[in-house]
Amino acid sequence: MKSFENIDVKSVKEAVNLLQKFQQQKKTAAVVGGGSEYLQLMKDHVVEPDYLINLKTIPGLDYIKEERGAFRIGALTKLADIEMHPTIQEKLLILSSAAGEAASPQIRNAGTIAGNLCQRPFCWYFRSANFTCLRKGGQVCYTVTGDSRFHAILGAGPSYIVHPSDTAPALVALGAQIKIAGPAGEKTIPLEKFFLLPSVDYKRENILTAGEIVTEIIVPAPKSGSKGFYHKVRERLAWDHAIVAVATVVESSAGVVSHAHVVMGGVAPIPWRAAKAEEFLRGKKLDEASARQAGEIALEGAKPLKDNSYKVKIAQDLIQRGLLASV
Ligand SMILES: Cc1cc2nc3c(=O)[nH]c(=O)nc-3n(C[C@H](O)[C@H](O)[C@H](O)COP(=O)(O)OP(=O)(O)OC[C@H]3O[C@@H](n4cnc5c(N)ncnc54)[C@H](O)[C@@H]3O)c2cc1C
Repeated sequence: MKSFENIDVKSVKEAVNLLQKFQQQKKTAAVVGGGSEYLQLMKDHVVEPDYLINLKTIPGLDYIKEERGAFRIGALTKLADIEMHPTIQEKLLILSSAAGEAASPQIRNAGTIAGNLCQRPFCWYFRSANFTCLRKGGQVCYTVTGDSRFHAILGAGPSYIVHPSDTAPALVALGAQIKIAGPAGEKTIPLEKFFLLPSVDYKRENILTAGEIVTEIIVPAPKSGSKGFYHKVRERLAWDHAIVAVATVVESSAGVVSHAHVVMGGVAPIPWRAAKAEEFLRGKKLDEASARQAGEIALEGAKPLKDNSYKVKIAQDLIQRGLLASV
């Protein structure tokens, strides 16, 4: 690994100022929470920063609070703490499940929610120092002619990564917001708008610009009677990213849907919201036929690559399973 300097910061402001300073000095710097993902990229020589800004030394940024009808989750909150939190388990089961499905117990005990949302793609071409792929400044996305088993079937091109986060689809389905601190101050935006399609920028996965860091996630309390589920299919039960994951949040009365949120992971470069399926479900009685049709509508625009058409059926089935669990 290339040598670097670690800086333990004490405040968000200090982190933002340092990021700005290093940018002006034309030095490379990155923030880390648990470091579980970023240090692997460094060891693999995919990234070689001059400075690592350790956010974990900022006091008071790991919390879960229930306040005025919303849950506030500090950026440094560990995935294991979200998974095991009694109120999250009771009132936001979908989020507790998604956090608990991520990676391994060891990684969940180090990895933070902000790191989970900001992790880089787990595409094997991106993660190998032997391939200078499009996302790393090269000319091609090797997936197009290479091994595309685990890549995108929706919303992709010119890069075909899938977004790797388990918590992201669940949080988008819950209508979460994300708070960002930067040189211009703080802003809060819908989490759905945080992620970037490759057609907008194929070198970044989110809207963060130089000097910006995530400080908090805000999740509105689900409406009473709504039900949310997270289902994930992976190649093996030990730590593994999703082949396909589906987050569903359904508000219904007497089996008739008033609002449904269907968000897929593992199929697109961003958490993929199935807006047409959500619209189709509004006012429908939720049964096997309507749930199956919603799954079919959700995958209508899918464009599988040569090795991953199998994902279409898995996604349709998971959508059906998630919706029927809500009845
Ligand atoms: C073997 C392995 C298996 C995994 N499997 C899964 C899986 O199945 N599902 C899943 O969801 N994830 C998986 N992960 C990823 C894991 O969940 C994340 O590594 C973890 O949540 C990241 O948190 P962290 O705090 O350690 O991130 P870090 O490694 O510290 O950072 C990750 C990225 O986020 C950025 N970042 C961190 N904090 C902030 C912040 N506050 N503001 C802005 N940017 C920030 C960093 O700069 C870096 O780019 C896996 C990782 C590994 C190594």
